[in-house]
Amino acid sequence: MGRLTNIKPMVGKPNRDRTPRAKTAARGYGGKWQRERITFLSAHPLCRMCEAKGRITPAKVVDHIEPHKGDRSLFWDRKNWQPLCEPCHNRDKQRIEKGGAPKPEIGIDGWPIEA
Ligand SMILES: [Zn+2]
Repeated sequence: MGRLTNIKPMVGKPNRDRTPRAKTAARGYGGKWQRERITFLSAHPLCRMCEAKGRITPAKVVDHIEPHKGDRSLFWDRKNWQPLCEPCHNRDKQRIEKGGAPKPEIGIDGWPIEA
């Protein structure tokens, strides 16, 4: 089973600026992912991270627990999916992209401190 090589880019036009959604499609997401995430979020409507803190927050994002890095089997593995709200998702991604090990600092209100 190969990687993403057999996924054709859904946009062929050079003027990418006109289509802000092109970036998403080019990464291998697309119509199927949109349907899957809606299905997943309707089955798992609450943000998992907020729920762990006792907060009830509607999930808006399907996050990959382990970054898939283009690995299709990991990408589509529902056991690797978790429902998150946008603030949790953004915080999580920033943390990883800033450098390696997840290491949230927790403030007095119980929320991770944003740098
Ligand atoms: Zn959340």
